[in-house]
Amino acid sequence: MKQAKIQEVRAYVIAANEMGADYHNQKGSHWIIDLPIANPMSVYEEYKAERTSWGINALGTVVVQVELTDGTIGIGCSIGGEPACYIIEKHLSRFVEGQDPRNVELIWDQMWRATMPYGRKGLTVQAISAVDLAIWDCLGKLRDEPVYALIGGKTKERLPVYATTSRPDVAQQWGFHGAKIPCRYGPGDGREGLKKNVEVMAEARAQVGPDFPIRLDCYMALTVPYAIQLAKALAPYDLLWIEECLPPDDYDGYAALKSALTGTCLVTTGEHEYTRYGFRELIARKCADILQPDINWVGGLTEARRIVAMAAAYDIPVIPHGSSVFSYHMQYAFSNCPIAEFLVMSPKADELVPLFGELFTNEPIPKDGYLELPDAPGWGVELNQNLELVRPYENSRREAVATS
Ligand SMILES: [Mg+2]
Repeated sequence: MKQAKIQEVRAYVIAANEMGADYHNQKGSHWIIDLPIANPMSVYEEYKAERTSWGINALGTVVVQVELTDGTIGIGCSIGGEPACYIIEKHLSRFVEGQDPRNVELIWDQMWRATMPYGRKGLTVQAISAVDLAIWDCLGKLRDEPVYALIGGKTKERLPVYATTSRPDVAQQWGFHGAKIPCRYGPGDGREGLKKNVEVMAEARAQVGPDFPIRLDCYMALTVPYAIQLAKALAPYDLLWIEECLPPDDYDGYAALKSALTGTCLVTTGEHEYTRYGFRELIARKCADILQPDINWVGGLTEARRIVAMAAAYDIPVIPHGSSVFSYHMQYAFSNCPIAEFLVMSPKADELVPLFGELFTNEPIPKDGYLELPDAPGWGVELNQNLELVRPYENSRREAVATS
């Protein structure tokens, strides 16, 4: 087997008009920013209309390259933009460079422990995720194996996929295994908003008929009483699951919600939860029927597989949020990851395009409701060489190293 050490870790931002790993970074008309979508800021009238108005895309994408001494280059990405580059280049790099790339657990643990004084959730863990994913890509390339084969092999030949979209009718024509639509109005919109939410669901159900599963994504916007009222009002339309109704820290609220909605619909959450510690809370407090870690945010594959293992002990399915190839590989490898999410990122939701935009040249896209991964090494995706990458802390890191 080929052996090599990690030579260098490099963190980049991409041009401001590129989407990359930050799919809210859309210019012009696009359903994901144009539709009213209830969110934590929609309690403020001036920020209600568009999520970009309060800066949902303020940080943007971070792209990480990990280069080995034999020239192998692995790619990872997350959101976090320039602040994530700072953390990676100025802090995390010391635990990565010079290491044996096979030591994923050791590298992860050192990045995690060293960032504990300021990290533990959010941006810092997103930065760790991007580095971790790039190391796994290196490992796969070093061994000439796809990542799923490194972590246990295939539990399924192809992945069933559901579509997150504003057009469930189109998703149905494409053969997806159901759809997920955004919840448009929250508690601040009163009874009128609740009525409109029900109308949207009624229309979606009328479009797709009785047998097509429909899910509702509430993006941390609701309260416990509102979520219970909404889910019960939507029950006649056979809602499969209600997603991320509450702020991620409200574990007691999620437990109350799941208990109240048993028999009505499934309660799901986790896309803005971090690490095994966060998911341990969700599991121990019986907060959700399905867990939805985002592999690009939760701590990378190294941490996500621990969450999948924990969930397996409670028979809780893990259906990761977005994250494209990075989650597909994990889902291939574990039997309690039954179905994948695909975000329909074309402006009118009438065309299938890569989740990460122009970032990769060959990001796999589902066909007829299934995703098939190629047998290519690593994550199997190539960085688009035409993309303008900027490495903001290249020089300042070197100066800091030289003077220390
Ligand atoms: Mg969601």
